[in-house]
Amino acid sequence: MATESLTWVDQREQLLLAPYAMFSNQSRGRVHAETEHPYRGPFQRDRDRILHSSAYRRLSGKMQVFTGEMGDYHRTRLTHTQEVATVARTIGRALGLNEDLIEALALMHDIGHPPYGHAGEDALNECAVDCGGFSHNQFALTIATELEFRYNEFSGLNLTHEVLTGQTCRIDKEKSGQRPLLEVQLVDAADSTTYDAHDTDDAIKLGLVTLEEMESLEMVRESIAHVRQHYTSLNEELMRKAVVHRLIERQVTSLITNCGNEFQDRAFANFQDAIDSDFVLGHNAELDQQKKELERFLYARVYRHPSLVTVRQQAQDRLKEMFARYCEAPELFPKKYQQRAEKIGIPRMAIEYIAGMTDRFCEDVHRAIVPSS
Ligand code: MG
Repeated sequence: MATESLTWVDQREQLLLAPYAMFSNQSRGRVHAETEHPYRGPFQRDRDRILHSSAYRRLSGKMQVFTGEMGDYHRTRLTHTQEVATVARTIGRALGLNEDLIEALALMHDIGHPPYGHAGEDALNECAVDCGGFSHNQFALTIATELEFRYNEFSGLNLTHEVLTGQTCRIDKEKSGQRPLLEVQLVDAADSTTYDAHDTDDAIKLGLVTLEEMESLEMVRESIAHVRQHYTSLNEELMRKAVVHRLIERQVTSLITNCGNEFQDRAFANFQDAIDSDFVLGHNAELDQQKKELERFLYARVYRHPSLVTVRQQAQDRLKEMFARYCEAPELFPKKYQQRAEKIGIPRMAIEYIAGMTDRFCEDVHRAIVPSS
Protein backbone atom coordinates (compact mmCIF):
# COMPACT_ATOMS: atom_id res chain seq x y z
CA MET A 1 0.00 0.00 0.00
CA ALA A 2 1.40 3.41 -0.93
CA THR A 3 2.23 5.52 2.13
CA GLU A 4 0.25 8.52 0.87
CA SER A 5 -3.00 6.47 0.90
CA LEU A 6 -2.57 5.65 4.60
CA THR A 7 -4.15 7.76 7.31
CA TRP A 8 -2.02 9.26 10.05
CA VAL A 9 -3.20 6.50 12.42
CA ASP A 10 -2.23 3.83 9.86
CA GLN A 11 1.22 5.33 9.31
CA ARG A 12 1.86 5.42 13.03
CA GLU A 13 0.82 1.79 13.45
CA GLN A 14 2.99 0.71 10.50
CA LEU A 15 5.95 2.20 12.33
CA LEU A 16 5.20 0.85 15.80
CA LEU A 17 3.29 -2.42 15.58
CA ALA A 18 4.55 -5.94 14.89
CA PRO A 19 3.06 -7.76 11.87
CA TYR A 20 0.99 -10.05 14.13
CA ALA A 21 -0.76 -7.11 15.87
CA MET A 22 -4.36 -6.15 15.02
CA PHE A 23 -4.04 -3.03 12.88
CA SER A 24 -6.78 -0.41 12.92
CA ASN A 25 -7.28 -0.67 9.15
CA GLN A 26 -7.90 -4.42 9.51
CA SER A 27 -10.90 -3.82 11.78
CA ARG A 28 -14.20 -5.32 10.66
CA GLY A 29 -15.84 -2.07 11.69
CA ARG A 30 -19.01 -1.29 13.63
CA VAL A 31 -22.63 -2.47 13.41
CA HIS A 32 -23.68 1.10 12.57
CA ALA A 33 -21.23 2.45 9.97
CA GLU A 34 -19.54 5.70 11.00
CA THR A 35 -17.13 8.08 9.30
CA GLU A 36 -13.59 7.61 10.54
CA HIS A 37 -12.32 10.25 12.94
CA PRO A 38 -9.59 12.54 11.52
CA TYR A 39 -6.98 11.79 14.18
CA ARG A 40 -8.30 9.03 16.44
CA GLY A 41 -8.20 5.43 15.27
CA PRO A 42 -11.22 3.12 15.76
CA PHE A 43 -9.84 1.47 18.89
CA GLN A 44 -8.94 4.83 20.43
CA ARG A 45 -12.53 5.86 19.90
CA ASP A 46 -13.72 2.64 21.54
CA ARG A 47 -11.49 3.32 24.53
CA ASP A 48 -12.86 6.87 24.83
CA ARG A 49 -16.46 5.67 24.53
CA ILE A 50 -15.94 3.17 27.35
CA LEU A 51 -14.07 5.71 29.49
CA HIS A 52 -16.94 8.21 29.13
CA SER A 53 -19.68 5.64 29.81
CA SER A 54 -21.61 5.83 33.07
CA ALA A 55 -21.00 2.10 33.67
CA TYR A 56 -17.25 2.80 33.70
CA ARG A 57 -17.60 5.65 36.20
CA ARG A 58 -19.70 3.48 38.50
CA LEU A 59 -16.76 1.08 38.87
CA SER A 60 -15.36 3.48 41.47
CA GLY A 61 -18.27 2.50 43.77
CA LYS A 62 -17.97 -1.24 43.25
CA MET A 63 -15.80 -3.46 45.38
CA GLN A 64 -13.09 -5.67 43.93
CA VAL A 65 -12.63 -8.07 46.88
CA PHE A 66 -12.85 -5.89 49.97
CA THR A 67 -15.76 -3.64 50.92
CA GLY A 68 -15.82 0.08 51.64
CA GLU A 69 -16.25 -0.60 55.37
CA MET A 70 -12.84 -2.25 55.40
CA GLY A 71 -11.09 1.06 54.66
CA ASP A 72 -10.21 3.19 51.67
CA TYR A 73 -6.72 1.91 51.02
CA HIS A 74 -7.54 -1.21 49.05
CA ARG A 75 -8.50 -1.61 45.39
CA THR A 76 -11.91 -0.86 43.94
CA ARG A 77 -13.17 -2.28 40.68
CA LEU A 78 -12.04 0.96 39.01
CA THR A 79 -8.46 0.99 40.32
CA HIS A 80 -8.19 -2.71 39.44
CA THR A 81 -9.28 -1.86 35.89
CA GLN A 82 -6.71 0.92 35.64
CA GLU A 83 -3.98 -1.41 36.88
CA VAL A 84 -4.98 -4.03 34.30
CA ALA A 85 -4.90 -1.43 31.53
CA THR A 86 -1.46 -0.18 32.57
CA VAL A 87 0.10 -3.63 32.93
CA ALA A 88 -1.46 -4.75 29.63
CA ARG A 89 -0.20 -1.68 27.77
CA THR A 90 3.32 -2.14 29.13
CA ILE A 91 3.42 -5.73 27.87
CA GLY A 92 1.63 -4.85 24.64
CA ARG A 93 4.09 -2.09 23.83
CA ALA A 94 7.07 -4.39 24.45
CA LEU A 95 5.56 -7.04 22.17
CA GLY A 96 4.48 -4.63 19.40
CA LEU A 97 0.75 -5.26 19.88
CA ASN A 98 -1.98 -2.65 19.40
CA GLU A 99 -2.03 -0.59 22.62
CA ASP A 100 -5.24 1.25 21.71
CA LEU A 101 -7.12 -2.01 21.29
CA ILE A 102 -5.55 -3.37 24.49
CA GLU A 103 -6.62 -0.31 26.45
CA ALA A 104 -10.19 -0.44 25.13
CA LEU A 105 -10.46 -4.13 26.03
CA ALA A 106 -8.97 -3.58 29.48
CA LEU A 107 -11.23 -0.65 30.35
CA MET A 108 -14.24 -2.65 29.22
CA HIS A 109 -13.40 -5.99 30.81
CA ASP A 110 -15.18 -5.42 34.17
CA ILE A 111 -17.86 -2.81 33.34
CA GLY A 112 -20.52 -5.50 33.75
CA HIS A 113 -19.65 -6.25 37.36
CA PRO A 114 -22.63 -5.99 39.72
CA PRO A 115 -22.32 -4.62 43.28
CA TYR A 116 -20.36 -6.76 45.77
CA GLY A 117 -18.01 -8.43 43.29
CA HIS A 118 -18.27 -12.14 42.61
CA ALA A 119 -20.55 -12.62 45.64
CA GLY A 120 -23.03 -10.26 43.95
CA GLU A 121 -22.62 -12.05 40.64
CA ASP A 122 -23.37 -15.46 42.19
CA ALA A 123 -26.49 -14.12 43.95
CA LEU A 124 -27.85 -12.50 40.79
CA ASN A 125 -27.13 -15.64 38.81
CA GLU A 126 -29.24 -17.61 41.28
CA CYS A 127 -32.05 -15.04 41.09
CA ALA A 128 -31.95 -15.14 37.29
CA VAL A 129 -32.22 -18.92 37.04
CA ASP A 130 -35.50 -18.64 35.09
CA CYS A 131 -34.53 -15.65 32.94
CA GLY A 132 -31.18 -16.44 31.40
CA GLY A 133 -28.79 -16.38 34.36
CA PHE A 134 -26.31 -13.62 35.04
CA SER A 135 -22.62 -13.25 34.20
CA HIS A 136 -20.68 -10.00 34.49
CA ASN A 137 -18.92 -10.68 31.20
CA GLN A 138 -22.23 -11.07 29.37
CA PHE A 139 -23.67 -8.01 31.09
CA ALA A 140 -20.71 -5.90 29.91
CA LEU A 141 -21.82 -6.69 26.35
CA THR A 142 -25.44 -5.77 27.13
CA ILE A 143 -24.26 -2.46 28.56
CA ALA A 144 -22.07 -1.74 25.54
CA THR A 145 -24.66 -2.71 22.93
CA GLU A 146 -27.97 -1.72 24.54
CA LEU A 147 -27.90 0.11 27.85
CA GLU A 148 -25.56 3.07 27.39
CA PHE A 149 -27.33 6.00 25.73
CA ARG A 150 -24.89 8.51 24.30
CA TYR A 151 -25.90 8.85 20.68
CA ASN A 152 -29.04 9.89 18.92
CA GLU A 153 -28.60 7.39 16.08
CA PHE A 154 -28.35 4.16 18.07
CA SER A 155 -28.43 2.56 21.52
CA GLY A 156 -25.17 1.43 23.02
CA LEU A 157 -21.64 2.56 22.24
CA ASN A 158 -21.37 1.06 18.73
CA LEU A 159 -17.94 -0.39 19.50
CA THR A 160 -15.82 -2.16 16.91
CA HIS A 161 -16.32 -5.83 16.13
CA GLU A 162 -12.87 -6.60 17.65
CA VAL A 163 -13.66 -5.12 21.07
CA LEU A 164 -17.10 -6.77 21.22
CA THR A 165 -15.73 -10.13 20.09
CA GLY A 166 -12.90 -9.80 22.61
CA GLN A 167 -15.47 -9.39 25.37
CA THR A 168 -17.54 -12.30 23.96
CA CYS A 169 -14.45 -14.52 24.27
CA ARG A 170 -14.38 -13.79 28.00
CA ILE A 171 -17.87 -15.25 28.48
CA ASP A 172 -16.89 -18.79 27.70
CA LYS A 173 -13.26 -19.24 26.88
CA GLU A 174 -13.67 -22.88 25.89
CA LYS A 175 -16.75 -22.51 23.73
CA SER A 176 -15.91 -19.32 21.83
CA GLY A 177 -14.48 -21.36 18.94
CA GLN A 178 -11.60 -19.46 17.39
CA ARG A 179 -8.65 -18.42 19.50
CA PRO A 180 -8.98 -14.74 20.51
CA LEU A 181 -6.76 -11.98 19.12
CA LEU A 182 -3.37 -11.67 20.85
CA GLU A 183 -4.51 -8.36 22.35
CA VAL A 184 -7.51 -10.12 23.92
CA GLN A 185 -5.34 -12.93 25.31
CA LEU A 186 -2.96 -10.31 26.70
CA VAL A 187 -5.64 -8.43 28.63
CA ASP A 188 -6.73 -11.72 30.17
CA ALA A 189 -3.14 -12.43 31.29
CA ALA A 190 -2.77 -8.87 32.60
CA ASP A 191 -6.01 -9.28 34.59
CA SER A 192 -4.64 -12.26 36.54
CA THR A 193 -1.18 -10.68 36.87
CA THR A 194 -2.82 -7.68 38.44
CA TYR A 195 -5.24 -9.35 40.85
CA ASP A 196 -2.72 -11.94 42.03
CA ALA A 197 -0.43 -9.06 43.05
CA HIS A 198 -2.94 -6.54 44.39
CA ASP A 199 -5.04 -9.07 46.30
CA THR A 200 -1.82 -10.19 48.02
CA ASP A 201 -1.02 -6.55 48.80
CA ASP A 202 -4.50 -5.70 50.12
CA ALA A 203 -4.85 -8.93 52.13
CA ILE A 204 -1.56 -8.34 53.97
CA LYS A 205 -2.29 -4.64 54.49
CA LEU A 206 -5.72 -5.51 55.94
CA GLY A 207 -4.16 -8.08 58.27
CA LEU A 208 -6.03 -11.09 56.83
CA VAL A 209 -2.75 -12.92 56.20
CA THR A 210 0.93 -12.18 56.86
CA LEU A 211 3.82 -12.04 54.45
CA GLU A 212 5.52 -14.73 56.56
CA GLU A 213 2.55 -17.07 56.01
CA MET A 214 2.73 -16.43 52.29
CA GLU A 215 6.42 -17.27 52.20
CA SER A 216 5.37 -20.90 51.88
CA LEU A 217 4.34 -20.07 48.30
CA GLU A 218 7.08 -20.40 45.68
CA MET A 219 6.23 -17.16 43.88
CA VAL A 220 6.17 -15.11 47.08
CA ARG A 221 9.32 -16.82 48.39
CA GLU A 222 11.18 -15.92 45.18
CA SER A 223 9.98 -12.32 45.42
CA ILE A 224 11.06 -11.98 49.05
CA ALA A 225 14.48 -13.46 48.22
CA HIS A 226 14.84 -11.07 45.30
CA VAL A 227 14.00 -8.05 47.46
CA ARG A 228 16.40 -9.20 50.20
CA GLN A 229 19.21 -9.39 47.66
CA HIS A 230 18.79 -5.67 47.04
CA TYR A 231 17.72 -4.37 50.47
CA THR A 232 18.84 -5.64 53.84
CA SER A 233 16.79 -3.55 56.26
CA LEU A 234 13.33 -2.74 54.90
CA ASN A 235 10.58 -2.11 57.41
CA GLU A 236 7.43 -4.25 57.17
CA GLU A 237 5.47 -1.85 55.01
CA LEU A 238 8.24 -1.21 52.49
CA MET A 239 8.95 -4.94 52.39
CA ARG A 240 5.32 -5.66 51.45
CA LYS A 241 5.37 -3.02 48.75
CA ALA A 242 8.69 -4.22 47.35
CA VAL A 243 7.46 -7.83 47.25
CA VAL A 244 4.24 -6.83 45.46
CA HIS A 245 6.28 -4.78 42.98
CA ARG A 246 8.44 -7.84 42.35
CA LEU A 247 5.37 -10.07 41.92
CA ILE A 248 4.11 -7.81 39.14
CA GLU A 249 7.50 -7.31 37.51
CA ARG A 250 8.26 -11.02 37.48
CA GLN A 251 4.98 -11.89 35.77
CA VAL A 252 5.24 -9.03 33.28
CA THR A 253 8.84 -9.90 32.41
CA SER A 254 7.91 -13.57 32.05
CA LEU A 255 5.11 -12.75 29.59
CA ILE A 256 7.31 -10.43 27.54
CA THR A 257 10.22 -12.88 27.42
CA ASN A 258 8.19 -16.01 26.85
CA CYS A 259 5.95 -14.52 24.17
CA GLY A 260 8.73 -12.41 22.62
CA ASN A 261 10.81 -15.55 22.03
CA GLU A 262 7.85 -17.40 20.57
CA PHE A 263 6.97 -14.53 18.25
CA GLN A 264 10.55 -14.46 17.00
CA ASP A 265 10.60 -18.22 16.33
CA ARG A 266 7.17 -18.40 14.75
CA ALA A 267 7.40 -15.20 12.67
CA PHE A 268 3.64 -14.73 12.25
CA ALA A 269 2.93 -12.69 9.11
CA ASN A 270 -0.29 -11.17 10.46
CA PHE A 271 -2.88 -11.42 13.26
CA GLN A 272 -4.76 -14.21 11.47
CA ASP A 273 -1.61 -16.34 11.29
CA ALA A 274 -1.18 -15.96 15.03
CA ILE A 275 -4.73 -16.95 15.98
CA ASP A 276 -4.82 -19.82 13.47
CA SER A 277 -1.71 -21.32 15.10
CA ASP A 278 -1.58 -23.27 18.37
CA PHE A 279 0.20 -20.38 20.11
CA VAL A 280 -1.33 -19.36 23.44
CA LEU A 281 -0.16 -16.16 25.09
CA GLY A 282 0.99 -17.01 28.60
CA HIS A 283 3.76 -17.80 31.05
CA ASN A 284 6.14 -20.73 31.01
CA ALA A 285 4.92 -23.87 32.79
CA GLU A 286 6.92 -23.17 35.97
CA LEU A 287 5.49 -19.69 36.59
CA ASP A 288 2.06 -20.93 35.60
CA GLN A 289 2.21 -23.50 38.41
CA GLN A 290 3.45 -20.86 40.85
CA LYS A 291 0.53 -18.59 39.96
CA LYS A 292 -1.92 -21.45 40.47
CA GLU A 293 -0.39 -22.14 43.89
CA LEU A 294 -0.74 -18.45 44.85
CA GLU A 295 -4.33 -18.32 43.56
CA ARG A 296 -5.29 -21.44 45.56
CA PHE A 297 -3.90 -19.76 48.67
CA LEU A 298 -5.75 -16.49 47.97
CA TYR A 299 -8.99 -18.38 47.42
CA ALA A 300 -8.77 -20.40 50.63
CA ARG A 301 -7.20 -17.85 52.96
CA VAL A 302 -8.38 -14.49 51.62
CA TYR A 303 -11.51 -14.75 49.45
CA ARG A 304 -13.01 -17.24 51.95
CA HIS A 305 -11.68 -15.45 55.05
CA PRO A 306 -14.33 -15.45 57.85
CA SER A 307 -14.61 -11.64 57.76
CA LEU A 308 -15.34 -11.75 54.02
CA VAL A 309 -17.69 -14.73 54.23
CA THR A 310 -19.98 -12.71 56.55
CA VAL A 311 -19.92 -9.68 54.24
CA ARG A 312 -20.53 -11.96 51.28
CA GLN A 313 -23.58 -13.57 52.88
CA GLN A 314 -25.09 -10.21 53.89
CA ALA A 315 -24.56 -8.83 50.39
CA GLN A 316 -26.13 -11.86 48.74
CA ASP A 317 -29.16 -11.75 51.06
CA ARG A 318 -29.57 -8.05 50.26
CA LEU A 319 -29.54 -8.65 46.49
CA LYS A 320 -31.97 -11.55 46.70
CA GLU A 321 -34.40 -9.52 48.83
CA MET A 322 -34.22 -6.63 46.38
CA PHE A 323 -34.81 -8.93 43.42
CA ALA A 324 -37.89 -10.42 45.08
CA ARG A 325 -39.19 -6.95 45.97
CA TYR A 326 -38.80 -5.58 42.41
CA CYS A 327 -40.55 -8.65 40.99
CA GLU A 328 -43.57 -8.22 43.28
CA ALA A 329 -43.65 -4.41 42.92
CA PRO A 330 -42.26 -3.40 39.51
CA GLU A 331 -43.67 0.10 39.97
CA LEU A 332 -40.62 0.63 42.18
CA PHE A 333 -38.40 0.79 39.07
CA PRO A 334 -37.59 4.36 38.08
CA LYS A 335 -39.85 5.50 35.22
CA LYS A 336 -37.26 5.22 32.45
CA TYR A 337 -36.84 1.50 33.11
CA GLN A 338 -40.55 0.70 32.85
CA GLN A 339 -40.33 0.62 29.06
CA ARG A 340 -37.42 -1.79 29.05
CA ALA A 341 -39.26 -3.97 31.58
CA GLU A 342 -42.05 -4.35 29.00
CA LYS A 343 -39.49 -5.54 26.45
CA ILE A 344 -37.34 -7.91 28.52
CA GLY A 345 -39.72 -8.85 31.34
CA ILE A 346 -39.80 -7.76 34.96
CA PRO A 347 -37.37 -10.35 36.44
CA ARG A 348 -34.72 -9.55 33.81
CA MET A 349 -35.23 -5.82 34.35
CA ALA A 350 -34.73 -6.32 38.08
CA ILE A 351 -31.47 -8.18 37.41
CA GLU A 352 -30.18 -5.45 35.07
CA TYR A 353 -31.21 -2.61 37.34
CA ILE A 354 -29.60 -4.15 40.42
CA ALA A 355 -26.46 -5.16 38.48
CA GLY A 356 -25.89 -1.54 37.46
CA MET A 357 -25.87 -0.27 41.05
CA THR A 358 -22.81 0.70 43.08
CA ASP A 359 -22.40 -0.98 46.48
CA ARG A 360 -23.47 2.15 48.37
CA PHE A 361 -26.48 2.88 46.16
CA CYS A 362 -27.54 -0.74 46.51
CA GLU A 363 -27.51 -0.44 50.30
CA ASP A 364 -29.54 2.78 50.15
CA VAL A 365 -32.12 1.29 47.80
CA HIS A 366 -32.34 -1.87 49.88
CA ARG A 367 -33.13 0.19 52.97
CA ALA A 368 -35.73 2.15 51.01
CA ILE A 369 -37.62 -0.68 49.30
CA VAL A 370 -37.30 -3.80 51.44
CA PRO A 371 -39.63 -3.60 54.45
CA SER A 372 -38.00 -3.61 57.90
CA SER A 373 -34.45 -3.76 56.49
MG1 MG B 1 -10.74 -7.95 36.19
